[in-house]
This record gives sequence, C-alpha cells and structure tokens, in this order.
Amino acid sequence: MPTDQIPTLTLNNEVTMPALGYGVFQTPPEETVAAVRTALEVGYRHVDTAAAYGNEREVGRAIRESGLDRDEVFVETKVWVSDFGYDQTLHAFDKAAGKLGLDRLDLLILHQPAPARFDTTIDAYRALETLLADGKVRAIGVSNFMPGHLARLLDATSVVPAVNQVELHPYFQQPAVQAADAERGVLTQAWSPIGGITFYPGWGDDTRRSTLEDPTIASIAATHARTPAQVMLRWHLQQGRSAIPKSVTPSRIAENFDVAGFELTADELASIDALDTGVRGGPDPEVDRARFYELEIPEA
Ligand code: NDP
Repeated sequence: MPTDQIPTLTLNNEVTMPALGYGVFQTPPEETVAAVRTALEVGYRHVDTAAAYGNEREVGRAIRESGLDRDEVFVETKVWVSDFGYDQTLHAFDKAAGKLGLDRLDLLILHQPAPARFDTTIDAYRALETLLADGKVRAIGVSNFMPGHLARLLDATSVVPAVNQVELHPYFQQPAVQAADAERGVLTQAWSPIGGITFYPGWGDDTRRSTLEDPTIASIAATHARTPAQVMLRWHLQQGRSAIPKSVTPSRIAENFDVAGFELTADELASIDALDTGVRGGPDPEVDRARFYELEIPEA
C-alpha cells in the first residue's frame, strides 16, 4: 500500500470506496453543514451518516454546497431497526434519499441486527438486495453484525454484504468478527476508530480509559512526530480496514485526514494489536433493546 495517499478500497462487487470516511454520529444538525463542508474542503470524499443521527438532510446540503460533483463523494447511510421489514426498508431508502437529496446512494447498510426479530432483519436485507438490483444503491452492507448474525443472514439471502461496520479501536478489536468478515469477503469498517466511545464527553463513568491517552500509542506517535489519533487511523489503514473518524473541530477534521506520508512498522502494529481488552464500549449486538424500536425515523 503506498503511504503517500489515502487508500481506495475495492468492495466485493468491484465498487471502490475511499478507506477513510468522515463520520457524523452526535453531530447536531445545526453544526452538520459546516462540519461536512470543512471535511470536504480538507479532502474527505466519503461521508458516513445514518437515519438515526437526524442529520442526513444537512449532510446532503453540505455536499451540494461544496460544489463537488455528486460522483466525487461516496455517501454511506444506515437503516434504523424501527424501519426493518421488506416494505418498510424500501421506504427507508426513500426517506434517506429524499433527505440527502440524492437519487442513488453509494452504500446503504442495516444499522444493527434486531436479534429478537431476526426475520425482520432478513426482510430488511432483502429490500437492500432489491434496491441494489434496481440501481438505487451501489453497494449494501450491515453494521454491528457478529459472526453468528452474518452466518444466519448469508444462509437466507444471496448478496454478500460489502461492508460490516463495527466498533473497532485499539481497546476493542473484535478479531473473530474481522476473521469472519474476511472469510466471507466482507470489508470491516471501524466505528469509533480512534476510540471515541472510550472518551465521549458525558458518557460512561470515571473508570473509562481513553485510547487517546494510551502510553503505547503516545510513544509510537512521538516516534513519528504524529498524534495518537493519526497513529490509530494509520493502524486501521495499514491493516486494510475502512475507518470513519468523527470530529466537529476543524483542526481535528484536518488532523484526522492527514494520515498519509508515514508508515507504522510491523512491531508498532503488533504493539497496538496487543492493547485489545476484549471489552466493548458500545451496546452488545446480541442484546435486543426495546427502546431502539421506539425511535421513529421521520419522513423526508
Ligand atoms: P471517533 O473514534 O471518531 O471519536 C470521535 C470523538 O473524538 C469526538 O468526541 C471528537 O470530538 C474526538 N476527536 C476527533 N478527532 C480527534 C483528535 N484528532 N484528537 C482528539 N479528539 C478527537 O468516534 P465515533 O464513535 O464518533 O465514531 C466515528 C463514526 O463512526 C461516527 O461518527 C459514526 O459515523 C460511526 N459510528 C457508527 C456506529 C454504529 O453503530 N454503526 C456507532 C458509533 C459511531 P470533537 O467532535 O468534539 O472534535
């Protein structure tokens, strides 16, 4: 992999996607246009949003206002669980595309499995297959799928997901998920790639350890005269993953994109691999949460 540029990944249906995307979870709608505009100015050409983030409309506006051609920006969004089911998910596409102001999405994924209603998850995925066949989306995928979910999905459907977006940072690396994805030809995409969930303000308790303050990562960062966030992003890219860091802070938006031009050694990669605690920060995808279904996604 050349180190002087951000890699482009080829998905299992030959669609290409910039490995580094820009995430907007927890970005308030009123800050989203400016944040996404900054990201596009800095050079990001891949944006990850979701129906549940409530900011698809603003992501679409930022892309239009950027003056870039539609085809220059890879747009990824997610169907929320309250919209699972065949007809419901077809309609979820209309809602997302309507808010984004786009006829076609680059990547549409199921936000998470609905473990106690897996039949609705399968129906939702069948709708994604229809959208793919109809040319409404260029690629389809899943998020927060454990290997068992992936196996059940593959048994019941025919298109292998292009992407599985999962929690993945130095403190929670999910090797079994990464192996299952790789075996099936599914690209693993890291959410909280710099460990945001280990330090989001206002979440969790004082026992959390922040990946940004990890001494091993800090020491590698010092060696390369880079920041801990840049080292973590480089680790993802060198291991072939997609990563979608989020920031609303212009200097950090730029910092997180400035990850070409240096290379971690095999020993450095291995020492980051060794930081895995096996403890997730986010919700366990095996647990069905009634409150998830209560969130209603508004019409476009
Ligand atoms: P990240 O690992 O991207 O971390 C984001 C946090 O880190 C924010 O608090 C941000 O603050 C801060 N930050 C960003 N850059 C830097 C930096 N260079 N130095 C110090 N602090 C920094 O976590 P996220 O959980 O947001 O994950 C990224 C994206 O993944 C989301 O935006 C979303 O698109 C996706 N996601 C998907 C999920 C899913 O279930 N599929 C779940 C969670 C996330 P600030 O903004 O104030 O600068």
